[in-house]
Formats: sequence, C-alpha cells, structure tokens
Amino acid sequence: MPKLPELSVVVPCYNEQDVIRECHRRLTEAIRPHVSSFEIVYVNDGSSDNTLSLLLGLYSSNAEVRIVNFSRNFGHQLAVSAGLEYAEGEAVAIIDADLQDPPEVLVQMLQKYREGYDVVYGVRRTRLGESLFKLQTAKFFYRFINLLSDTPIPLDTGDFRLMSRRAVAALTSMRESHRLLRGMASWIGFRQFGLEYERAPRFAGTTKYPFRKMLSLAIDGVLSFSTLPLRLFTFAGIAAAVFALLGIFYALALRLFTNIWVRGWTLLFIGMLFLGGLQLISLGIVGEYVGRIYTETKRRPLFLVQEFFGAKNAGKPGSESMLTVKQWRE
Ligand code: UDP
Ligand code: MG
Repeated sequence: MPKLPELSVVVPCYNEQDVIRECHRRLTEAIRPHVSSFEIVYVNDGSSDNTLSLLLGLYSSNAEVRIVNFSRNFGHQLAVSAGLEYAEGEAVAIIDADLQDPPEVLVQMLQKYREGYDVVYGVRRTRLGESLFKLQTAKFFYRFINLLSDTPIPLDTGDFRLMSRRAVAALTSMRESHRLLRGMASWIGFRQFGLEYERAPRFAGTTKYPFRKMLSLAIDGVLSFSTLPLRLFTFAGIAAAVFALLGIFYALALRLFTNIWVRGWTLLFIGMLFLGGLQLISLGIVGEYVGRIYTETKRRPLFLVQEFFGAKNAGKPGSESMLTVKQWRE
C-alpha cells in the first residue's frame, strides 16, 4: 500500500482551459515546500472545452495529479463534493481553478490546521475585479441567509478552505442532494478558524456563475438550513386571520347599525388581491420544500463519474486509469 498523502487539494474545473496550467504551476509551487506528500484532485465538471485534455496532459507528467471526470456538468458544489470523496489526504483543501483564491494562502491554512483546527476557512477581506452587482448581491446573500438559518454561516466565505480528515468524513457522510458546502461545513462543528485573505481577480476566462446559478445557490442555502420561511407564512396567516376577525365585526356593525354599508369596496378589493398574493407565495414556498422532499426521496446518486485517474502504479504504466461509475450512495 502506498502511503497516503499529507494533503489533498480539490479543484473543481468547468471550462477552465485558460487557467488550468497556471493553476497547477502555482498550486504545486506554493505547497510542495511545505508538505511531505500531496495530491491534487481535479474534478472535470463536464467541460466542453479543452479542460480534460489539458488535465490528462498534466496527469501524464505529474505523479501527484488525479482526475475525476464527470459524465456531464453537475455543478460546482457537486464537483467539490466528488473531490472530497476521492481525496485521500490527511488534510483536504478546496480551491477554485481560476486563482481568485491565492494558493499561497493554503500554507497559512496548513499552519492553522497543524495548530489543531479542523476547518480553516478563508474569509474574503477584499475582492478585486468583481462587479459591484456581484459584490452587493453576495453581501446581501450572506446576511440574509444568516437571518433565516439555524446554522450560522460565516460572512464572506466561499468554499476556499482546508479541512481535517474527520471534518471531510463528516461532510461526505451528509448525503443531501442540495448542497451548500460552506453551510454544511459550518454545521458539522469541530474546531473552526476563519483566516482573512485578499481575493484576487480571475486569472483568465470568465465566471461560470451567472446570476441564475447564484440565485439557485442562495435559495438552496436558505431552504436547506432553515424551515423559517414556512413559519413566516404561518405568522402571516395568523395576522391575516386577526384582521379578518376585526373586519367581520366592522362589517356587521356597519350593516346592523348604519345605512352606509355598501361602502368599503376598495378595502374588499385590496384585501382580496393581497390575500390572493400571499396565498400564492406561501403555496410556492411550500412547493419548494415539497420539491426538495421529492428529489431526496428519489435517492439518485449525486453525481456520476465517467472515469477516475488515480495514483499511478509504479512500474505499470497504462493500468492507472480505470473506468468506473462510482456512486455516492451504496
Ligand atoms: N465550476 C464548476 N462547475 C460549474 C461552475 C463552476 O466546477 O458548473 C468551478 C469553476 O471552474 C471554478 C469554480 O467552480 O473553478 C468557481 O467558479 P467561478 O470562478 O466561475 O465562480 P465565481 O468565482 O465567479 O463565483
Ligand atoms: Mg472565480
């Protein structure tokens, strides 16, 4: 049995042909002097560009490269989850391929890990080269989610982090299909440390997180960590019922003791529209949760791996790539 690496670095890649080589160079340069052994687990999340062939090129000339090749695009959070599943290191780090999170910060994270922390997560002090819109929505997102969620999620963190083997085991044991890893990593507890760093602009290429994906990540975050939205509508329902009761007395009083009882049409009209809207929204929110229950009960594998290129067997070139469909759930 070959010795397990001291550190694994998980790198999700989706159409990152412009950054892969530089990413690998900077990563290896940054960590090689600080660990006795390491592996880099690239997860190719169904890229349609040259990402896979570039990764295979790296694999053929570097002993520390592993490739998890998805059968299609499953999304960033699932790509990272797969990387965690395949990583064998004593400690496991997660980093984006685009070098927005500087690999050199991993060394500081490693130091904190060695001091005994299980989860060392990056806290973005500044973010360069991102649109004002993205900055503002991200800021709002983290504050909103914390308002609603039962699990506090540290402000301004992403998935850039380094975790101990037991923290990774805890994460991979959580089998839900809507995954906001930064929230799950907070939920597991253990000893956690937030390390501040400066976020750099993307090295090359464009963001793979359009507004649509950000919104769905935000909704996942709120719904998977809280049932408070459901409760809010219970409260709204109670408030509406109290108003209705007052309205009943008011209408009866007008009808019985005065002769102006045809008035009040405006109130009626507004009340009808308002309650109709409220009911549709609450139905929609209930629907979101029901949809999630539906997805979970299907118990589909979270992702499908088409090929895994693992550690090379010394002296047996060519036998290293195996064709597997590894499933998350047994
Ligand atoms: N990514 C992925 N699958 C996706 C979208 C993104 O694996 O469906 C990867 C991407 O290659 C990058 C990381 O997730 O390494 C973060 O994406 P990106 O930098 O585009 O997001 P941003 O930093 O703009 O939020
Ligand atoms: Mg990025």
